[in-house]
Amino acid sequence: MAQQTLKIDNARFVVTMDPQRRIIADGSIVVSGNRITQVGKAAELASVSADTVIDGSGMVVTPGFINGHMHISYAHAVRGLFPDDLGSEYLPNVFRLQAAMTPEDEYATSLLAITELLKYGTTTFIDPGTTTHLDLCMDAYRQAGCRIIVGWNVLDRPNPLNLPVSDTADAIRATEETVSRYHGALDGLVSAWAMPFSSEFCSAELLSATHAIAQSAGTRATLHFNSGPRWIQHCRQEHGCTPTEYLDRCGVLTPGMTLAHCLGIQDDEARLIAERGAAVVMCPTAAIKGGARMTQHGLLPELLNYGATVGLGTDAGNNSNLLEALRSVYLAAVLYKDGRGDVGIIPAETALELGTIGGAAALGMDDIIGSVEPGKAADLVLFDTRRSEWAALHNPVNSLVYNADGRSVHTVLVNGRVVVQDHRPLFVDEPELVAEVQKRGDALVQRAAVKFDSRWPVI
Ligand SMILES: [Zn+2]
Repeated sequence: MAQQTLKIDNARFVVTMDPQRRIIADGSIVVSGNRITQVGKAAELASVSADTVIDGSGMVVTPGFINGHMHISYAHAVRGLFPDDLGSEYLPNVFRLQAAMTPEDEYATSLLAITELLKYGTTTFIDPGTTTHLDLCMDAYRQAGCRIIVGWNVLDRPNPLNLPVSDTADAIRATEETVSRYHGALDGLVSAWAMPFSSEFCSAELLSATHAIAQSAGTRATLHFNSGPRWIQHCRQEHGCTPTEYLDRCGVLTPGMTLAHCLGIQDDEARLIAERGAAVVMCPTAAIKGGARMTQHGLLPELLNYGATVGLGTDAGNNSNLLEALRSVYLAAVLYKDGRGDVGIIPAETALELGTIGGAAALGMDDIIGSVEPGKAADLVLFDTRRSEWAALHNPVNSLVYNADGRSVHTVLVNGRVVVQDHRPLFVDEPELVAEVQKRGDALVQRAAVKFDSRWPVI
C-alpha cells in the first residue's frame, strides 16, 4: 500500500537546522508516511501534490523541540503546591506524593504533561526512569503519539531522598528487562535507556553494569549529574578526583552517556566531558528556580567551547514548573549574557541549536530528528506569526528565541502524524483532562497528607 503523503505548503520561513543552517523563505515540506521526503522553495515544489495539504502561509516551521530531562509522570497533579523555600524538604515531599499515586493517577498526569509538551512544540523527551506503571503509561504515549525515551530508575545506595534502594543485582536485572522490553516499542517511537539515578546513589558496579547493558543493546544511559559540595568532597577524599573523573574511572563517561543538569563542575571537568564525547542536558528553568546559580556552576559556554554535545531539559513540572521548550532556549540565550556580563555569549542561533539539533545529538538521535531534512522523521512545529509577539518579523531565529513562546505553536506533527492543530491537541479532550487531573491532585494531597497553605488568605 502506498504511503500517505502530506505537504506543508507556502510556509513563511522554514528554519531547517540542516548542516548549512538554511532558512527557506516561502518554503514547502513534503512528507511520505513518517518521513520528510522533500524540503525546498514552494515554487520548486508547486507541482508536488499530497493526500493532505497544510497551508503554511504565515507560519514559521521548525523541527520538533527536544527535552532531554523531564520526569513526565507525577508532577501535574501537584504542580504549584510547594512554597519556594522548602529547601531540603522539597524532594522528600515530592517523592512521598509520587509514592501515593495510583496507576490511574499516573496515566492521567502523564497524558496531561505530554499534552502540554506537544502543544508547545516539544516532540521528543526523556522521562528519566521515574514512571512506575510503564505498561499503563505506554497507552498514554500511544494515544498522544509523542517520541519518548523511557527507562527504569535504579539505585543501590542509601540516600537522603528516601528513594527505594535496590540490591545491585536486582537493579541490573531491572535495567536489562526494561531495555529489552521497551526499546523500539510503538513502531520505534519509544526508546529505552539505562537510567542509574546518579553517581552519588549508585555503586561503581551498578553504574558500569547499567552502562554496559545500554551499550550492548545499542542504546544509551542517562543519570543525574548535579554535584553538590558534599559529593565533590566525597570524591576528593575517597577517590582523590573530581566527580567527572570519577565517572570516567567507572567507565561511563562515554559517547553513550547523557549527563542531566551537569551543575557543580569545574573548567577541567567540562573539558574532560567534551573529550570523552559524553553528552550533557542542562535544565535552566529548574536550575534558576532552585537557586543553583547556573551561570557560576553550570559551565554551558565552556562545554560548548570545548565542543561538547549539549541539549536542554526542564526537569519535572514541580522542579521548574515551566516545560515549554522556547522558555529554556530563551534562558540559555540570556542567562549567561547577564551572569557573565557579556552579550556575545550563546547567541540566539546557538540557543536554538540547543533546543533542536543539539538536543537530538545529546540523545544520540540526530540521524532521525532535530532538523527539517529529507530522510528525517517528520517531527515538525508550525508557529503562527500572525500574532503580536511575532511582529515585526525580520529574522526568524531572533524572533523564535527572544519574542515567541509556545502560545504561537499552531500545528505539531510527530512522525508524520498531526497531533496538534489550530492550537488544540487532537488526541485528547484537554479541558476534560485538566479537570480530571485537578480532581486527582486534590485527592492525592489529602491521601498523602502533604499540605502547604497559601501565605495569603484564601477567602
Ligand atoms: Zn531529574
